[in-house]
Amino acid sequence: MEQVNNLISSNNKTDLKHAFMDACADKEFKDFVYGLKIKEEVLIKYTSLLEDAFVEHKNCLNCKGLGSCKNKVIGFKETPIENNNNINFEYIPCERKIKEDKKNKFSENITLFEMNKNIKEASLKEVFKDDKLRLPIIKFFKEFIDNYDKKEKPKGLYLYGSFGSGKTYLIAALFNEMARRGVKSALVYYPELLRNLKSSFKTNYEEKFDYIRKAPLLLLDDIGAENETPWSRDEILSPLLQYRMEENLPTFFTSNLTLDELEKQLSITSSGIDSLKARRIIERIKQLTVNEKLVSKNRRV
Ligand code: ADP
Ligand code: MG
Repeated sequence: MEQVNNLISSNNKTDLKHAFMDACADKEFKDFVYGLKIKEEVLIKYTSLLEDAFVEHKNCLNCKGLGSCKNKVIGFKETPIENNNNINFEYIPCERKIKEDKKNKFSENITLFEMNKNIKEASLKEVFKDDKLRLPIIKFFKEFIDNYDKKEKPKGLYLYGSFGSGKTYLIAALFNEMARRGVKSALVYYPELLRNLKSSFKTNYEEKFDYIRKAPLLLLDDIGAENETPWSRDEILSPLLQYRMEENLPTFFTSNLTLDELEKQLSITSSGIDSLKARRIIERIKQLTVNEKLVSKNRRV
């Protein structure tokens, strides 16, 4: 009986070997399997699974991006791994998948309110190599990053300058870098926020306002471009800035207006002129920020 068993087993082995050799007629397949550095006697037991893995391997060699991944599990490659004279086929994520996941994870640290999504692509690397006129801002960013972990958080920036000079891009690039370091931020297109908060009064107004108020980093983008009302100035902006000052939360602003011009703009609302209230807001912005002008050509295309 033992002899019969041995015979069957030996026949079986020969069949397996044949199937394996047949598959190895394809030179690419052969290079692939021998490149795995797994003993031949183990390889021959898995010809058909190795062929499946080889298909995935080839898909990866011809990769045109995650969007057109042909593998069974997108972004993963079925990979043969030897284990005690057997082979396990494990799904291993590819470089692109790992990179994409990392990006998505960082990107969760940034919340946009009415801002263009492509600012999540803004990168400090681009900024650094780009423009001599920005040197003071670049220096500010480097110090900001270095000092962020200290107990007393660094101040934000009041960045003003002409339309299209790259103000929003610069701050977004800093926030993206901070996101990579695990710091959450909110970027808010200020004029639209006011409209948005007003229309969400009955729904999630408190929740939204609270989120923005408490964001570890906040950008109020394009302040001064809104139509001021006593409500937006005295019920939104003023308590928001007060809270962020008290809690030592870095706050950034971009504007087409200098602080003096913003003060004038804030003093005039639909219900008259109130210089004192405007003055108070400007004082808060001054306490929260370093003031920088961005001189640059219009970068909008
Ligand atoms: P601003 O906020 O001053 O009006 P933006 O930040 O919106 O200007 O910049 C205008 C355009 O130029 C945007 O499309 C932005 O993506 C692009 N941009 C600005 N700065 C850079 C930069 N350093 N590198 C690449 N593109 C930039
Ligand atoms: Mg802008």
